[in-house]
Amino acid sequence: MKPFVYNALPARVIFGSNTLIQVSDEVKLLGGQRALVLSTPNQKEAADQVAKLLGDLSVGCFYGAAMHTPIDVTHEALNVVAETKADCIIAIGGGSTIGLAKAIALNTDLPQIVIPTTYAGSEATPIIGQTENGLKTTQRTLKVLPEVIIYDVELTKTLPSQMTITSALNAIAHAIEALYSKDANPLISMLAEQGISALARAIPVIHRDPFNSNARSDALFGAWACGTCLGAVGMSIHHKLCHTLGGSFNLPHAETHTVILPHAVAYNEDAAPQAMTCIARALGTDNAAQGLFDLASKHGAPTTLKEIGLSAADIERAVEIACASPYWNPRPIEANAIRELLTNAFNGVRP
Ligand code: NAD
Repeated sequence: MKPFVYNALPARVIFGSNTLIQVSDEVKLLGGQRALVLSTPNQKEAADQVAKLLGDLSVGCFYGAAMHTPIDVTHEALNVVAETKADCIIAIGGGSTIGLAKAIALNTDLPQIVIPTTYAGSEATPIIGQTENGLKTTQRTLKVLPEVIIYDVELTKTLPSQMTITSALNAIAHAIEALYSKDANPLISMLAEQGISALARAIPVIHRDPFNSNARSDALFGAWACGTCLGAVGMSIHHKLCHTLGGSFNLPHAETHTVILPHAVAYNEDAAPQAMTCIARALGTDNAAQGLFDLASKHGAPTTLKEIGLSAADIERAVEIACASPYWNPRPIEANAIRELLTNAFNGVRP
């Protein structure tokens, strides 16, 4: 056994179907009396349902959450927190809504109950990314780690088919980079393999039958496992490239993860053989990078950067940004090899 350091994060996790009805009890357990519910404009109905369940414990809803946690939206929400004297924040939605809850917690220290409806994994991390003047900056602080996560499988059944696949591959990316992280440790590696396996098993079933309860349950468990990996250890080239493409070229989050992942894994193939064996085993394939590419392409997910909004002329600038302050990676970051990776991802070449 290699030496390791493991930092456990505190979390209360409620997992199941129709668990949403426990939300009032969770507010009371936290000592809350005035909960503000957050959502995106798309999930207004879900937020209203939470407020209804809370009854007198709710001071209302804020429906303005947006992708990449823009600072002006946070200021608007902070005004509502002050006006309503909210003492507790409830987020129902994906990483964008949970990002807003974290931004409020960063500014106010209010406790958060988060109810994830995608597989992005933000609920299990002490990480917050915020955007101001077109620049996204990320920080890690326990101030933003949600106190309670309520996973309700029923809420994920409405996630559209393509978003389901790309969000699941976004989750798998966290577990993959945890397996070859410089902070890798045996507990997180076990969780990573379980998470990849649960999501890979669920994707084909959900693709055929979006309302399948067992597959939706496997996928949500996988999202928790993979999100926990993201919260516990450092990420590498895959996440660096996705942050570059999302932050500087405004590419969509989950789709970018889906397209880049097979190529980032191929980049690290020779440098992280043990991780590759583990990923391939979890996917049920012989080759990790090819298995990931096939998982996306067989289920209608994008496989090229050009179809999700990058132009060929952007590749050189993306290489520069990704190589300027690289995250630790098992294989050294070389500009020529990164250019080749991005060109392959741009054209959707099977690794
Ligand atoms: P999202 O939260 O932006 O959701 C995408 C859209 O789908 C939204 O309109 C949302 O309302 C809708 N939606 C979500 N769940 C739904 C459901 N079950 N049914 C119908 N519609 C639904 O997307 P995301 O990929 O979950 O989150 C992306 C954001 O999260 C990015 O800003 C990313 O940086 C951040 N993120 C942060 C972390 C972290 O640890 N800090 C981790 C992962 C992602």
